[in-house]
Amino acid sequence: MTQTSPVFSCEFFPPKTEDGINKLTATSKALAAVKPRFFSVTFGAGGSTRDRTFETVIDLQEKSGIDTAPHLSCISSTRENIREMLTGYQDKGINHIVALRGDMPSGMVEAGEFRYANELVAFIREETGDHFHIEVAAYPEYHPQATSPDKDLANFKRKVDAGASSAITQYFYNPDAYFQFIDRCNTIDIDIDIVPGIMPITNYYQLTRFSDACGAEIPRWIRKRLESYGEDLESIRAFGEEVVAGLCAQLLEQGAPGLHFYTLNRAEPVLAIWNRLGLNTLQQN
Ligand code: FAD
Repeated sequence: MTQTSPVFSCEFFPPKTEDGINKLTATSKALAAVKPRFFSVTFGAGGSTRDRTFETVIDLQEKSGIDTAPHLSCISSTRENIREMLTGYQDKGINHIVALRGDMPSGMVEAGEFRYANELVAFIREETGDHFHIEVAAYPEYHPQATSPDKDLANFKRKVDAGASSAITQYFYNPDAYFQFIDRCNTIDIDIDIVPGIMPITNYYQLTRFSDACGAEIPRWIRKRLESYGEDLESIRAFGEEVVAGLCAQLLEQGAPGLHFYTLNRAEPVLAIWNRLGLNTLQQN
């Protein structure tokens, strides 16, 4: 891990409406000004946003000039679908990708031709060699379906061995979970950068819903404070900013190789944390 050149990145979801597209254009412009190393765009469960993800990636990269990485999930895709998407991205000069298993859309029971993300990473390498920088997901608090922490770690290593270039974590608010995870990765010779995923806190109920779904823990002291603010959004915002900026500062001070912000298509919460950290002095080239 490096302390001299941290990698900052911002994740968006593909908007559905004209209004959403305009809002994302403004958000990406505001965030591009602080020069993150890359943007990424999520991929809806079961490929539901396949075309919108593609269009959003191309649009963002063209308008902002910032390297933009599509997320690509494989759980309900065929090899042919994935091959087509990879070719489409290669043809447009995209060379960075976030490779995921994804989750089954509700109502679907049959997996496609890929069962796990390591199979997708291996397929991307087979098909496209070294063209793509491949990011994979990592879970410091363990994936909710993992049968044990050891097996989850071994499964993470499969993705690295299959050719992942670096990883982005699920968000967390307990830095010990991250550093413990890194220590465990080091003991089994995982040597790629593992960048913490950062979720700004702006809306307590939304955060609780996301966290329950993805297995991220909100520590009791944070939960209690947020609950105590009720509908007072200004206090939630101020407290959330203080907590998340403190987390980011500690992660960077103790050697995290960068920060990946889950923006939910909003610039202000990220910029507020960025400014608190004095990150404007660490701009990426
Ligand atoms: P995997 O690495 O395949 O792991 C899934 C589970 O299977 C784990 O429990 C693991 O231990 C187990 N496992 C893995 N390999 C094996 C194996 N070979 N044998 C047995 N068990 C195995 N979801 C979306 O739908 N769209 C997105 O755009 C999206 N972006 C994300 C971005 C980041 C940074 C992160 C952290 C998550 C994102 N997700 C996204 C959520 C992700 O798709 C889910 O968490 C999904 O449940 C797991 O995906 P994965 O790639 O981590 O799967």
